Amino acid sequence: MIVMKFGGSSVDSPGSIERVVGIVRSLLDRRPVVVVSAMSKTTRRLLRCADAAAAGDLDLPKANAILNELREFHWHVAHAVVEPAGHSVLKAMLDRYFGELRAQIDEIVKAGRLSARAADAVASFGELLSSAILSLALDRPEDGIEAPWIDCRQVLITDDSFNRAKPIYEETEPRMRRAFLPHIEAGRVPVVGGYVGATRDGITTTLGKEGSDFSAAIVGAALGADEVQIWTDVDGMMTADPRCVPDARRIRTLSFGEGLELACSGAKKPHWGTLGPASRADVPIHILNSWSPHLDRGTGEGTLIGRRDPTAQPGIKSISWRPHARRITVRGEGPDFQNEVFAVCERYRPSLMMIGVGPEEVEIAVDQEDRLFEIRAALAHCGRSTGEVHVTSGRAVVSLVSDDLATHPELAERTLALAEGAEPRLVTAGTAAPCIRCLVSEESAPDAVALLHEKIFGHRPEEPVG
Ligand code: ADP
Ligand code: MG
Repeated sequence: MIVMKFGGSSVDSPGSIERVVGIVRSLLDRRPVVVVSAMSKTTRRLLRCADAAAAGDLDLPKANAILNELREFHWHVAHAVVEPAGHSVLKAMLDRYFGELRAQIDEIVKAGRLSARAADAVASFGELLSSAILSLALDRPEDGIEAPWIDCRQVLITDDSFNRAKPIYEETEPRMRRAFLPHIEAGRVPVVGGYVGATRDGITTTLGKEGSDFSAAIVGAALGADEVQIWTDVDGMMTADPRCVPDARRIRTLSFGEGLELACSGAKKPHWGTLGPASRADVPIHILNSWSPHLDRGTGEGTLIGRRDPTAQPGIKSISWRPHARRITVRGEGPDFQNEVFAVCERYRPSLMMIGVGPEEVEIAVDQEDRLFEIRAALAHCGRSTGEVHVTSGRAVVSLVSDDLATHPELAERTLALAEGAEPRLVTAGTAAPCIRCLVSEESAPDAVALLHEKIFGHRPEEPVG
């Protein structure tokens, strides 16, 4: 069996949903489970509505307007894709969810503030609605397709860290097996919303931004799927963000480590959480384009993230970048200076990464600001002359990722030479996979990425990499 996950842009209009229905139908022989995100922009609108409610009377008309708009939008899309015979069920479902949502919003108005818990409760309606609609759209008993809806809050059990809840696997996996396997065995196509879960006590939680990919991997790992397909709007994982680099090329294969490193270094796809359950259960993640006419039936489309592919051409796989970094320059002397700086880095990992070491100067990139003050204070005590710590903000970290950097020293050398001119020095590092990182100013990051991309991959967008 396989898990098929569809993102918000794949279900945001009647035409898109029909396309998704077609894709799922074309792969029925692989026994799919379908995981779906909220329709485009819905989560953002829901949270804007909750914010307006928390702001009180003045913004209440705004909250009401958003609710009405959301209801209109979901009805408009849904009634075009659900057979007329299902319209009364559809209307009852929308009435119920929008009634519950209304009650949540009223609670927030009363509280006069938006707690993380209430925000999750409101945000969850995006996936509850989209999954219920997709299940009705797929369900065509006259064609022999039954698509039961599974409540994600009953199967994905998490802790109570609202907005970024962590799955409790020992609770979740048996529940998922109980909920999904009998349907799969009976030839049905279960549909479940991503991103949303609940605590053991049934309080709604969310896995955090873009968490539907993560949900899909959790389902895939629990059910021992052959693969988790993530259907999106690009041809796969690309050699750079295609919005930054139009010449970006598709990557054929990535290792789990490379996928995780890219996800953590700023690539939007896939959600970083996805790689944990997938690699533990050894379930490959297959990124595919739901707009592509060649739907994958083992034809080598998309990007397969899995065990390292020994036949792949060695080379850099992809370049990603993330903003909001700072560069810290520490000056000091004495025999213990460097070791003391290393010890501080060790203590504050993983928010710190070393980028350059000289006898009396160490440069460090910090990509989380929450502990900057503490880190700075600790660094000021390194070496004999204290206090020489300079912080430069507005930096971006550019990462060039490939497992081959560890096994092909000439690749590392060549890549380092290409990155010459980046600020300040570079060192190979990486938490999940080897990579080369450099710091550039935030404004110059898109250009720096484009330039590095051109040097490394050239202009052959039609040719895949790796
Ligand atoms: P979905 O709605 O399907 O979850 P997202 O919009 O969240 O999709 O993510 C897909 C987008 O991620 C792509 O359209 C692309 O612009 C962006 N992206 C950024 N970096 C990369 C990359 N290295 N490879 C592929 N896509 C990337
Ligand atoms: Mg998305």
